[in-house]
Amino acid sequence: MTESRRAISELTKEQLVAWLRKHGEPSYRAKQIRRHATHGTERGFEELTDLPKSLRDALARSFRWSSVEPVREEASADGETRKALLELRDGHHIESVLMPHHGARNAVCVSTQAGCPMACAFCATGEMGLVRNLTAGEIVDQIRHWQNELAQRGERVSHVVYMGMGEPFNNYDATLASVRALIDPEAFGISPRRLTISTCGVVPGIDALGGEGLPINLAVSLHAPDDPTRARIMPINRKWGVEDVLAAAGRYVKRTNRRVTFEYVLLAGVNDAVETARSLAAAITRHGPTKDAHVNLIPYNPGAGGFRRPSVKRMETFAEVLQEQGIAATLRISKGQDIAAGCGQLKVAEGKAAVTA
Ligand code: SF4
Repeated sequence: MTESRRAISELTKEQLVAWLRKHGEPSYRAKQIRRHATHGTERGFEELTDLPKSLRDALARSFRWSSVEPVREEASADGETRKALLELRDGHHIESVLMPHHGARNAVCVSTQAGCPMACAFCATGEMGLVRNLTAGEIVDQIRHWQNELAQRGERVSHVVYMGMGEPFNNYDATLASVRALIDPEAFGISPRRLTISTCGVVPGIDALGGEGLPINLAVSLHAPDDPTRARIMPINRKWGVEDVLAAAGRYVKRTNRRVTFEYVLLAGVNDAVETARSLAAAITRHGPTKDAHVNLIPYNPGAGGFRRPSVKRMETFAEVLQEQGIAATLRISKGQDIAAGCGQLKVAEGKAAVTA
């Protein structure tokens, strides 16, 4: 993909209306175009047959239908989780994952950056370094990619988690612009309560999101309750330590009334001891009522960093200790591990259309 035309998703509603006016078209066409782009099965302007042909042609000359081009898709062995390798217009690649849940929900995990600069030790994306930030259109078009597939069988994307490649708060403006497109009733119309932004602990980003007045779910990658262990596996801890991150999460809860999820990848011999579970519970409790927190325990997926996954018994004990201390904890066996679509496994080989994780 080498064209430099903007994708239709990269225009705000106001920009699209202005473009239509300039071309002598009524502004209500904006609603039609955006509805097709977010709900339909169409794969190009030529398929928008309720628009006049002259308008379809003008749109096709001015814009691309999407800012991402699917290169390859893989399905997990159970057929549920799907991972797409997508090419951006400058030839870089990102990954996006669809996680259906027993027909009840269709969650999409989106990337906000190509690569990631945060270098978490257990994460394949972190090994890539940062390639570049994505535009809001490139984030939204990942959801459009899956929405288009789901629409073929009469389903829709119901939830979006910002947990793919990249740190969303390092690309705050584009992330928020994509959120606004997703919650727009004239576009995707997804409730903000069904959106989750996950951060590795960028405190100014947590505070900024808390001030947006949107009831978005926040997930914070904690991964250790003490600074020495967390700094060992997450370099960002040298800037914002455990107490800073927990305090910011507490402020977020107060401002939004949303519960915060703490992500915790279990690494054998690093952060999986019973005493560590007790320290984790104590640290969380220090910063707010336990009812406001939930710990999502993620078994390490073999790959980056060369860590080991703890035994099931040890992981279950860790969860039980947290629960005994009044902290809601779930032990999540990652979906899509066989296609490297699990947490910490997204990675693309730059310059090549291949998945290497
Ligand atoms: S875990 Fe998230 S923040 Fe850390 S390196 Fe991976 S993608 Fe970046």
